[in-house]
Amino acid sequence: MLYSLLSYSLWPFFLVTGLIGSDIAFQSEAPLFWFNVVYLTIVALIALAERLMPYDRDWLAPDGETINNLAHTLLSKGAVQLCAAIGASLPMGIATLVQPLTHPQFDLWPHALPLALQVVLGLIIAELGLYAAHRFAHESLFFWRFHALHHSVTRLWVVNTGRFHFIDSGFKIALSQIPLYLLGAPLPVFLWIGAVTAFIGILTHCNIDVRTGPLDLVFSTPRLHRWHHSRVIAEGNTNYGENLILWDQVFGTYFNPPREPSRDIGITGRVAPDFLGQLVQPFSRKGARQILGKAPKAVAPQTAISEPVPADEARPSA
Ligand SMILES: [Zn+2]
Ligand SMILES: [Zn+2]
Repeated sequence: MLYSLLSYSLWPFFLVTGLIGSDIAFQSEAPLFWFNVVYLTIVALIALAERLMPYDRDWLAPDGETINNLAHTLLSKGAVQLCAAIGASLPMGIATLVQPLTHPQFDLWPHALPLALQVVLGLIIAELGLYAAHRFAHESLFFWRFHALHHSVTRLWVVNTGRFHFIDSGFKIALSQIPLYLLGAPLPVFLWIGAVTAFIGILTHCNIDVRTGPLDLVFSTPRLHRWHHSRVIAEGNTNYGENLILWDQVFGTYFNPPREPSRDIGITGRVAPDFLGQLVQPFSRKGARQILGKAPKAVAPQTAISEPVPADEARPSA
């Protein structure tokens, strides 16, 4: 009974607590600092909840990727905050730096709307860019070689949320943020989108046995994202939304059948074992072929070093 109650309440609890904490942080003297205190506190609470009520007990076992996950998170999401030695989500950092320099020629933004509605509008617009970038990353072989790093993990937990190749992150940030700059969205909208993305993001990967019911129709929940990480292409090339699942529903990529999401997650190809190797691998022909699960071109199949995977089994299917 208590377990069931917790299952249903933990996802909204972490999101709402994170957003209330963000509100307090944004009104403080040091908003970025306090936002990060809130963020890291929620991360720690999610990590604790993963131990107490895991979705998959096997996913608690170390996979040797923790350092790589943290390094990619810092590089791809924290370039700006590393410079500032504070830490904030990249969208927030960019908004802080770039917004005052930006003077949109055509200010189409509805500044008169209440801030909450402006944030919802901003999320819907940003989400279209996130959706497009993410779908492209799955359906184009060129971009999949960068995005495969995110999918190469064999377990989901809060710490591998930010495991993105920096090219992959940059592409997503560009497509989601530039339209908002051009439309003249004000700084608070960027800050709040950054906060919502931060908390929904860490929740999508959490290994907590949460139940989200009707929330699966609106938000990118852990359940929907577990489908997205499935090794089966027909299940994995779905649910591209990062915060909202709206554009998946509009464009027909929403996937949530009435059974447990696959726990067999990962990719058919191989990524390098170390951080620097993972960074450079997509840039070489040989590295890209390893990621795509193709045998090296110059080597006959029977003498290939790693078990070659037929190209047609490699993701993406296109
Ligand atoms: Zn993906
Ligand atoms: Zn993911």
